[in-house]
Amino acid sequence: MYTINLASFNDSEEFIFEMRKEELPKIDGFEIEPPVRVRMTLTKEKDSEVLAMGALEAAAGAQCSRCLEPVKIGVKAEFTAVFKDREKITGDDLENDIYEYANNVINPAEFIGQALLLELPSKPVCFEACAGLCPVCGKNRNNEKCGCKSEAAKGFSPFSSITIEDGKIKKTEE
Ligand SMILES: [Zn+2]
Ligand SMILES: [Zn+2]
Repeated sequence: MYTINLASFNDSEEFIFEMRKEELPKIDGFEIEPPVRVRMTLTKEKDSEVLAMGALEAAAGAQCSRCLEPVKIGVKAEFTAVFKDREKITGDDLENDIYEYANNVINPAEFIGQALLLELPSKPVCFEACAGLCPVCGKNRNNEKCGCKSEAAKGFSPFSSITIEDGKIKKTEE
């Protein structure tokens, strides 16, 4: 577990480190590929506060939200955060997203995980113009033209003219 002892420097110091996968929180839908590279300057401020500014670089595996193919996402993010001694932290601090440290030691894993999460897309795509799966035949429209047309397709799909409401099957008018 990577930690930084605040007694190891005076006012300000730059740290460059890598976080291993098992050090980071799990993020649903993403497989973080280690290492996560971090460059971070810590500056001691008043009231036991420590300002962290820096950047991180990571890669994550996910599934394209349109065609369901595996996709690799590169993340580069800049961040700013404030850490404060657990003994001095107040309710207001916690509301202001201040991270705590204990015994003069900062453990950046939770914070780095949060910073990473903020940068990951909610709907990853393999490429901007990904055509996705055909809603009619299910083929990946990036790879082949299946020939289904949304209008003509209505007649082919056994489900196009019915909807399910309150657990009952209904025919749609139209
Ligand atoms: Zn895709
Ligand atoms: Zn199709």
